[in-house]
Amino acid sequence: MKPLPGLTELRQGGKRALSRMLTRLETEAQTDEISAFLDHACANAMGRVLGLTGPPGVGKSTLTDALIRHFRATDLSVAVLAIDPSSQFTGGALLGDRTRLQTDPGDQDVFVRSMAARDRLGGLSDHAIAAIALLRSVVDRVIVESVGIGQSEGDLVQACDTLVLCIQPGSGDSLQFMKAGIMELPDVVAVTKADMGAAARRAASDVAGALSLSRETQSHWQVPVCEISARTGEGLDDLAEAIAKHGDFLEASGELQSQRAEQQRHWLRDMVRADFGTAGLAVVGEMLETDTGERPFSCFQGISKDLKRRLEDGQA
Ligand code: GDP
Repeated sequence: MKPLPGLTELRQGGKRALSRMLTRLETEAQTDEISAFLDHACANAMGRVLGLTGPPGVGKSTLTDALIRHFRATDLSVAVLAIDPSSQFTGGALLGDRTRLQTDPGDQDVFVRSMAARDRLGGLSDHAIAAIALLRSVVDRVIVESVGIGQSEGDLVQACDTLVLCIQPGSGDSLQFMKAGIMELPDVVAVTKADMGAAARRAASDVAGALSLSRETQSHWQVPVCEISARTGEGLDDLAEAIAKHGDFLEASGELQSQRAEQQRHWLRDMVRADFGTAGLAVVGEMLETDTGERPFSCFQGISKDLKRRLEDGQA
């Protein structure tokens, strides 16, 4: 097996190096070497991770396109991870080539990859989590785009620093999201297609109302509601500013570190649950409680080997 590249090499290696590394994360998953690499990446995260969710057709990919252009205009490198809910069934035909994203193929600082969702609802697979850990240690901004239909947002919130929920005018989405408890999750809300006029204004005020009912008042972050039109460009600067402000807020308050540590603990529990079920979780419960979230991937390797040994010995 070829030795793994270092992070500096990947940061300078352009899209092909990154693409190759992502493939290795999948084909060599759960080896000691890859796990140690991913933990090292976690400890050296340099970029911010932006989650973009909302129902199909709300305008996520159009917005992703606009955000890529915005970030590139300020010379930030960008990676997009599109979580494709269909690919398990169609081999990635729905979003596979991301033809809707109009990126410059020659630009080495824009990287786009789509990945299968864990299930039909758009949950994140272990591969997607590993990819996010890698990408945020190599590029300045990672955009994770995922279809949200009421259940996958919880998964996304465990993998990004700033979650943007997209809502479409005239859809009644905000009411539905409030019922499903989703309004508690976003850090920024984008009401898309603001060029639709009055319907967009109404949606924005509905969302503001729903937010005020569902959020804890003691939070230090006030969730901004931005009306945007990717078509006319209206509101895009405000949205980008709100996203940047949330990132600054996380860094300045120290929440970025604690939030990521908590997410990494969640990944570890999630990986154990996915492979060994709740019974496996119960066996290693105490071990997980003392975990600080610093080395989730290697820790999982250790736990996985231990549990497999116990299963073979008939102890678990
Ligand atoms: P996704 O499924 O959430 O990724 O949504 P898309 O980005 O593919 O957009 C769905 C449809 O909405 C497409 O037909 C877009 O052209 C349209 N759309 C996206 N953004 C806007 C906008 O700002 N204004 C209007 N009027 N239509 C938009």
